Amino acid sequence: MKRYNEDFRSKLIGIDFVTLENSKNSIYALSKELNLIYFNPAFIHFAKENDIGKNIFDKYPLGTPIIKALRGEKIQEFYIMNYENSLATGEHWQHEFECSSRNEFRLFHQGCYPLKNGEGLIIINTLKVNLPMNRIDLKDYEAINKRYVQSTGLITQCSNCRHIQCVEQPEIWHWVPAWVEKTPCNASHSICPTCFDYHWKYSGIKYPTQKIS
Ligand SMILES: [Zn+2]
Repeated sequence: MKRYNEDFRSKLIGIDFVTLENSKNSIYALSKELNLIYFNPAFIHFAKENDIGKNIFDKYPLGTPIIKALRGEKIQEFYIMNYENSLATGEHWQHEFECSSRNEFRLFHQGCYPLKNGEGLIIINTLKVNLPMNRIDLKDYEAINKRYVQSTGLITQCSNCRHIQCVEQPEIWHWVPAWVEKTPCNASHSICPTCFDYHWKYSGIKYPTQKIS
């Protein structure tokens, strides 16, 4: 299946194509009309691994309005209002949503990054991890350590979006609300690849934005 059309790359201002391609988080992009214009390889992988995505691309090929992929009037209203607002204001929007598989209850964090030329939105989905803080035992503690504590004894947190880097798969960053609320004492601050592009690499460049009336 086709993941993007050739003109997508020229619309992509303020974030590198290769950063989206290499990200292990599921990413898609919307045009300013809120049509699907891009899926990264991790998104395709995620869709394939999950029942939800078996024929998702036959159903929702490039150019499909995102509203068609959203179920229920209230959900549609919620996303469209917030996506349009993000486009109009140029402000980052984030929220959490459920996307469980047949075997697993899962919550995701979604970050919505408006392109700096007003041409669309980059939508980044990361796993939300609730730590069992008030019923923690040695097994949980070791599992958490193995997943997030680097050999230096430090946890790496993106200083911008606050996601936590995984140790064994450093290209994956999780949303861990307990550590957003209270930064762990062994946290060291770094920056994730998408935030690096979006907030630092191109931060000095100004683009004319197109406001939605
Ligand atoms: Zn970040």
